[in-house]
Amino acid sequence: MVSKLRQDITAKSKSAGGALGGLRMTRQRKLVYDVLLDERDHPTATEVFIRSKARMSSISLATVYNCLETLSAAGLVKQVNVGRDASRYCPNLAEHAHFVCVKCEKVYDIGLKCNEEVESVWALPEGSRIDHLEVAMKGLCAECNGGDKRSGKMEEQV
Ligand SMILES: [Zn+2]
Ligand SMILES: [Zn+2]
Repeated sequence: MVSKLRQDITAKSKSAGGALGGLRMTRQRKLVYDVLLDERDHPTATEVFIRSKARMSSISLATVYNCLETLSAAGLVKQVNVGRDASRYCPNLAEHAHFVCVKCEKVYDIGLKCNEEVESVWALPEGSRIDHLEVAMKGLCAECNGGDKRSGKMEEQV
């Protein structure tokens, strides 16, 4: 399942490399998008700015914010909000939830183990549909949990 998810992500990123959903790719947008694809650790806008600046010294924070907004609006990037922290950005467009480690604050992409549609996983009121799903779990990652492979306590938040 994990490898299937990976394939989906790669396939999506590849097709996104071309036309990008009709979005005109300026040099800045492309750069910001590449930064997100290169290191999928869910950086904040400030972190994206620092990484972009290292590649294009003329880019400003305002431009980075603009690019992130445009990429999110075009559906190429997901905005991830965890608690009251600054938004983070994720280029993984496959359906997934986020697991946040409360100790090291790393954010992990979590796929579903079963091949069900999200609609059938959650007990939705009959006749409704999901347009946007945002699930964040909090706990301790394997490393912070002392390398214990058992999953830590999780808190679910929608
Ligand atoms: Zn951790
Ligand atoms: Zn993600």
